Amino acid sequence: MALNLIMLGPPGAGKGTQAERFARTRGIPKISTGDILRDAVSAGTDIGRRAKAIIDRGELVSDDVMIGIVRERLEKPDALGGFVLDGFPRTVVQATALDTMMDGRGPLIVVDIVVPEAELLRRLGIRMICADCGANAGGFAEAAAGAADKIVVAPGGAAAEAVAAVRAQTDPLRCRRCGGPLVQRSDDNDAVVIERLKVYHRQSEPLVEYYRTRPTFRSINGAQPPDCVAADLAAAIEAASNGAHVRKASGGPRS
Ligand code: ADP
Repeated sequence: MALNLIMLGPPGAGKGTQAERFARTRGIPKISTGDILRDAVSAGTDIGRRAKAIIDRGELVSDDVMIGIVRERLEKPDALGGFVLDGFPRTVVQATALDTMMDGRGPLIVVDIVVPEAELLRRLGIRMICADCGANAGGFAEAAAGAADKIVVAPGGAAAEAVAAVRAQTDPLRCRRCGGPLVQRSDDNDAVVIERLKVYHRQSEPLVEYYRTRPTFRSINGAQPPDCVAADLAAAIEAASNGAHVRKASGGPRS
């Protein structure tokens, strides 16, 4: 049976990292709407040009555009046997559209990754991505590992100081996957991060209520080391899959 998974949670919760790991171990595609949009921006397509300004303000691209992008992507052959969606749905309108797309495709498993706001701010302030391949290099301390093992990012310390400290000792930082230069995402600066969190609370958090009563919904603690989150995620997916089967066997509503 296809494993169709969506990950909910605020920016910085670790959705992308966990989605990538999980998709790799299961051999299904990870579909990240943020990556799709950033690729469109780099390629200078029509959608990319329009999305750039919206992303840089921390706002959401329109539901119509996003639903169109995801519908097209989920119809590709590699997604028919299951997928991990990261960054979609982000509004109740998108979630309703996704339910329609899921008709006849097996259950939709929903995992919400919960992380306190202070930790999100800390993570987003030090996150870097590869300018060439888009890989998330985690925090500066992680990115600099090996090259600058003396760097310590103090918990709660000012991101700007951490950035300056790392730059001074390891310039330029390089991607461990492809060797490309590591950069801060244009929407990871302080003002835009605050706006993205507000947008999350206003437009995306209601999704938790939208899905909570389904037998395929689970919530996990994202404020742990990545390996622990990955273990909790795998267990939650297993439990949610069982929930889906029980519900199906008893003839309950679609999940
Ligand atoms: P985050 O770190 O906030 O989870 P993403 O990489 O998922 O970031 O997305 C970056 C930006 O792309 C968002 O702030 C938003 O502007 C846009 N975006 C991504 N997915 C969606 C979506 N499903 N609906 C609307 N806008 C989206």
